[in-house]
Amino acid sequence: MAKSQSEENSKQESFGTAKVYINNAKSILNKATGFIDYYDFTLNPYRGCQYGCSYCYAAAFSPNSKMRQDWGNWVIIKQNAVEILEKELQKWQKKNPDKPASIYMSSVTDPYQPIESKQMLTRGLLEAMVKYQPILVIQTRSPLIAKDVDILQQFRRLRINMSIPTGSEQVRKDFEPRTPSISARLKAIETLKRNIRYQESHWIRFSVTITPLLPTFPEDEVDFIRKLEIVDRVVIQEFHPTQTRSLVAGTRQEAENIKQKYSWWYDNEQLNYLQFKEKLDLLLSGVEIKEGKAGFGFE
Ligand code: SF4
Repeated sequence: MAKSQSEENSKQESFGTAKVYINNAKSILNKATGFIDYYDFTLNPYRGCQYGCSYCYAAAFSPNSKMRQDWGNWVIIKQNAVEILEKELQKWQKKNPDKPASIYMSSVTDPYQPIESKQMLTRGLLEAMVKYQPILVIQTRSPLIAKDVDILQQFRRLRINMSIPTGSEQVRKDFEPRTPSISARLKAIETLKRNIRYQESHWIRFSVTITPLLPTFPEDEVDFIRKLEIVDRVVIQEFHPTQTRSLVAGTRQEAENIKQKYSWWYDNEQLNYLQFKEKLDLLLSGVEIKEGKAGFGFE
């Protein structure tokens, strides 16, 4: 009987509560589609994600249904990622000498999930990329990104998107209990902004992506929104539609169950979304507020 892809990934060790597998990727730059089709490529250093957010649509891209059910408890390291990236960027440059590739890192994993502190694979990819100077977006919810300030500041065209879907810690703990606190994420942005040595020709911007927009308790709202003044752009988006088919990206059932606890918000979701957006517009006059796909563009 043929082995499944997950069985072919030899189990290497554990990291925290996660099973860790290693794998050789066939390619590392994949054509960007859907809400990030503005970019040429997506780049996912890992497969799977230790954060295991309840609403994560990326679980749909697990190697099999067992791993999909176990989302958050495994990660696959693409051990040859740096080598492959180097080859793929060389090929791009040969074909497109005057056009840098635009890359969105990452679409179905968090490049700074906990294992990055040990593996430093994302860092290796940044080191490989910097000489090609792609247009680069990094999407994460991890303060670990701040450790790479020395290399990040060498990119001439960089946007860092920090995911913060709620301003209330209790809501975060319900929907994404394994992730860093809201304050740690905001602090990471501040640290990066403070420590980056800006050069005139470099264009480095910061966004907070409130995607999907989760409830924020009324008493936390104003304080949270005011703290977002540190970024250039705030992006909001509703949940992806719920999907039950395993290979279709959508909000997971786990999140649908947690939503029951927040019926005060979800019973009037459309209205609450609009009112939250109005507050962003009102309180963040110097910040660009964008919705959905429009917020994920580079400029
Ligand atoms: S951090 Fe991102 S990729 Fe990881 S589980 Fe959460 S939503 Fe999914």
